[in-house]
Amino acid sequence: MTAAEKTALARFVGLAAARINGGFAGEQQEYPFADDAAPGEADGLEQIADDVRCCGHCRLCKTRKNAVPGEGASSPLVMVIGEGPGADEDATGRPFVGRAGQLLDKMLAAIGLSRETNCFIANVIKCRPPGNRDPQPDETAACASFLGRQIQLLQPRFILCAGRIAAQTMLQTAEPIGRLRGKIIGFQSGGLTIPFIATYHPSALLRNEELKRPAWEDLKLLRSALEEAGFGDRLQ
Ligand code: URA
Repeated sequence: MTAAEKTALARFVGLAAARINGGFAGEQQEYPFADDAAPGEADGLEQIADDVRCCGHCRLCKTRKNAVPGEGASSPLVMVIGEGPGADEDATGRPFVGRAGQLLDKMLAAIGLSRETNCFIANVIKCRPPGNRDPQPDETAACASFLGRQIQLLQPRFILCAGRIAAQTMLQTAEPIGRLRGKIIGFQSGGLTIPFIATYHPSALLRNEELKRPAWEDLKLLRSALEEAGFGDRLQ
């Protein structure tokens, strides 16, 4: 219901009550009503995106062109979490839109997933590190609450974590990606336990063909876990 509709209803009720009591409705009152969130979309997601775009918590805000909050389905089966924006993402404000992003979209499509229907795509840091250097620990720490809020709000059924930096940051470990991938881990976040699969970053696959086979194994693991959990009908 919109704020205007709520106000009209409140005025009508006030008028009716005054008539029933034999009095009259005095001056029109102001009501502090707000519009409801759009159906199916928690308005907190836009709030988080606005907070990300205004963020000045670390030095990356000085060099970014655009912050990249993330995008996708508002009730996702899978949240895909990468490292951070590159040049194309910084230029557009959208996650995974460069070469690696195009490969990611193809990988997701191969198991029935897409950012348009059943995935949300985000990163552990929301602003591009200059020259695509690795994010520094104080930068990932400064950004952590945005990803935490997105996870709490979206409550994805699974997390697919792309690349060493993202996996090590999320799991707070220094284990190599080769040891973190290939299995389902229970990721804990604010009282939620979400099944979590790490895999190689699509840009690593573009550099090294040999990683494509294990990455495909990880995707098949995700697909079969989604089917076993009863979400087969939400895959395309
Ligand atoms: N690499 C990432 O990790 N994230 C993006 O959004 C783009 C490239």
